Amino acid sequence: MTQKKIKELSAMIKKGLMFGLIMGFVVSLFDGLLMLVPNVSIPYAHIWFVLMFNLCFWMIFGSIIAIFLQLYFYYKKSIIQFESFYWACFFLIPFAFVYGFLGSLPLRDAPRISYAPFDNYASFLWVMVVFLFLFFFKKKVNKTKLRPISYLPEIVIIVSLFQFCFNLKNLIIWTKPFEELKLHLNNKFILALYGFGVLLILCVYLISFFKLDILNRKPRWALTGLVLTVVLLLNGLFLANQVNLTKNELRPIGVKNQVSPKVSNVILIVLDTVRANRLSVYAPLNTTKSLESFSKDAVVYENCIAPSSWTLPSHASLFTGLYPVEHGKQHSAHNREFLSRSDFTKFTTLADIFKDNNYHTVGIVSNATVVNSFTNLDKGFQVFDTLHGLAALNGLPFLPLYNHFVKLTNINAAYLSYYRPAEQINKIVFENLEESPFFMFINYMDAHRPYNPPRPFNGYFADQKFPQLFKIRQYLGCTFFECPDDEAVNLFKKSQYDGELAYLDHHLGEFFLELKRKDIYDSSLIIVTSDHGEFLGEHEFYGHTGNILLYNEVIKVPLIIKFPNNSNIGRDKKLITLSDVYSTILSVCDMPVPDYVSGKAFGQDVTPVVSELKTNKNGRQRTIYFGNYKYLEFEKKREAELYALKADVAEKNNLAGELPEVAALMKNRLEKWQQEHKPKYKIINSSKKEMPKEMLDGLKALGYIQ
Ligand SMILES: [Zn+2]
Repeated sequence: MTQKKIKELSAMIKKGLMFGLIMGFVVSLFDGLLMLVPNVSIPYAHIWFVLMFNLCFWMIFGSIIAIFLQLYFYYKKSIIQFESFYWACFFLIPFAFVYGFLGSLPLRDAPRISYAPFDNYASFLWVMVVFLFLFFFKKKVNKTKLRPISYLPEIVIIVSLFQFCFNLKNLIIWTKPFEELKLHLNNKFILALYGFGVLLILCVYLISFFKLDILNRKPRWALTGLVLTVVLLLNGLFLANQVNLTKNELRPIGVKNQVSPKVSNVILIVLDTVRANRLSVYAPLNTTKSLESFSKDAVVYENCIAPSSWTLPSHASLFTGLYPVEHGKQHSAHNREFLSRSDFTKFTTLADIFKDNNYHTVGIVSNATVVNSFTNLDKGFQVFDTLHGLAALNGLPFLPLYNHFVKLTNINAAYLSYYRPAEQINKIVFENLEESPFFMFINYMDAHRPYNPPRPFNGYFADQKFPQLFKIRQYLGCTFFECPDDEAVNLFKKSQYDGELAYLDHHLGEFFLELKRKDIYDSSLIIVTSDHGEFLGEHEFYGHTGNILLYNEVIKVPLIIKFPNNSNIGRDKKLITLSDVYSTILSVCDMPVPDYVSGKAFGQDVTPVVSELKTNKNGRQRTIYFGNYKYLEFEKKREAELYALKADVAEKNNLAGELPEVAALMKNRLEKWQQEHKPKYKIINSSKKEMPKEMLDGLKALGYIQ
């Protein structure tokens, strides 16, 4: 008797597992369609991660359903002859709910990109139509005992309906021909497309319902066919992704210069969003061991100020030796045209100069949303690599459950990066070290939000024993219950930011090692810096976008310069800005500096240093550093501030009221500085140059555009 029960149960579980297996393959196939999104760098391992996850998840799901169903039959013996029908109800309805509902839950911190204009939940309506159909044709379903594989049409149709409804608008960005179409899109067109799409899917189902008897008659063949089709298609989609990646364009090099250069290789490394005082080179911390040992071969500049608090103006200053007010790449980040207003072509960039001097010029960029050809920052580079990371996809709900899985487990953490993580950047960097002499610019973006360091780096600085558990609490808490308290969250955020720094530092170590292995470390000029810092709760600010003020957390950045053959080492307290790096590099290489350039080689002895930003709330704001003082001035809605930096590193004690004569002097200096630094760019009419959609979505995700 009991043995019979066990036999029944195991037969049921077998069926459940088979259902799960089929489901796992079908869902993975649809998840694989994300590889058609252009210019996203997908590691091959990723498709296997997704396949493994789906198979495990749906097979566990299938066995749980089987146990429920067995219990159900135990109490209602009279209906056992309708088994096939009940499988359909018990398996497909919860599946539709889990896949559809969980898939549409918002992900905290994930970039959210414009969804279909219709309620995503409308997909449930169409799935109900499928169920109603099954219900009214149940006689056919009941007639013979059906195998799990004979539900393949239902499974495929349910997944397609959800995918179609969720991704309707995103379908259009898949291929270039649609790019043209997108411009003429209006709601009527989308409505028609939507109606047509749903109708087509339902029609395909109707036809397959009557024709696919073979699935039940030859289940082995059908299953083998499914597995082969999915594996082949996933690989095909991966190949399509690789082919679709914009190839690094190689531009022609000038006339061969016979004079051998003074410096054989120049490497400019920007650690995006890294503020100086979170690095162990600058503070008694334990975050960045590789940078510490690198700094022993170099000069550490202790007072380097970024000319602005965000990516575009700072990179433009690094590349041109000008201040943001001069090069014009600084406009408020709240409209679509802000990026293309300055005519950049008239400036000679570092890459231009090195290219003209016969260097191979290479840029490998993780922050591809801002540093790209649209913003002209590729000027002078022969190779400019700007692919996006995997999370450019998770804003699209292609992978409804996988999104949540990665968020909860931190397995395949790279999937949560909008940018390419250091590991992937290094891979491209290592491939480009052969052609000497070279000028290489590398942008690593790991310190940028969201802070998701992979294991073991996520646990290095967390006071929680199991950082991932805290994350789950935070994640589920904010979705279903109350969030954990602010202080704990803030501490945790800091630990994860530091974890990202440690991860980045680890891969910087790998990079320096590779240079040593190739025997080009000693002779190279290597500059490590950052474009801006990051607020981690100081002055009640987080991140580096929005209506922030230019306090040190967001503009005091690292600058470490390793000269060829380590000819100069030590620490330098002089004020220096990123605009000075241009002249510094050229003077080390014995190359003339164009006379319109403002930056001074090796920093500022007599002239003050200024940082600028435009925000909605305070308009134009400027801060000037001179001697021991720092003065901040705002266009609107805020009084000027003055800080004595030696005594008040945290900028807590505003002295503008106490020391009016110092404030007046600083204001004077700022005005004088303004007289000396006028716009040097032409404003171009940018209305014709529409920003690409991926870039717009990326800027929204990064917080630059609302
Ligand atoms: Zn940045």
